[in-house]
Amino acid sequence: MKIGVLALQGDFAEHISMLQRLGVETVQVRLPAQIEGLDGLIIPGGESTTIGKLAVAYGLMEPLRQFGERKSIWGTCAGAIFLSNDIHRDQPLLGLMDIIVARNAFGRQVDSFEIDLDIPALQQIAPESGAYHAVFIRAPLIEAVHGRAEALSQLPDGRIVAARQGHLLATSFHPELTGDDRFHRYFLKLVAGERMAD
Ligand code: GLN
Repeated sequence: MKIGVLALQGDFAEHISMLQRLGVETVQVRLPAQIEGLDGLIIPGGESTTIGKLAVAYGLMEPLRQFGERKSIWGTCAGAIFLSNDIHRDQPLLGLMDIIVARNAFGRQVDSFEIDLDIPALQQIAPESGAYHAVFIRAPLIEAVHGRAEALSQLPDGRIVAARQGHLLATSFHPELTGDDRFHRYFLKLVAGERMAD
């Protein structure tokens, strides 16, 4: 299995270390040709405006959209923003997921927080494994899922912070910043399922 990590800006290195720890072959993606032959792609956290501008400049928008039509993509934080099709403002988006996202919905950098979440989907990865410790850094909120998207995890007050749409995944938080690899393994399972269906 070969997984690409979009390496234009943001914390792509942390995703790569997590994937390497799981024994997966990784590719840093900066140019369209590097998407060829990948089984799945992760779009890291960072600044979605910067990631979008660079993706336009490097001719990556259309190749990424086409990839996401067929293959698994997981966006964490800024990556989740970039995957969505509505963020109430104008900036380059892949528009692959039916999620409405509000950027910086929890406030400024100093309002970043960590919280234990209940994520039922992770039971498939590690039954009985308990709460998932999630790190939110100037995070976006998934205001609503519609169309083909479904919520995967909510804060105690019901606000959505993770969503799935078939082989596409979006999380407001940063699973690459803790030692807990369950979310990465969940993504690899999505990727593997798709290859089995090929
Ligand atoms: N605030 C950033 C944005 O709007 C996302 C922050 C992050 O990825 N940690 O793009």
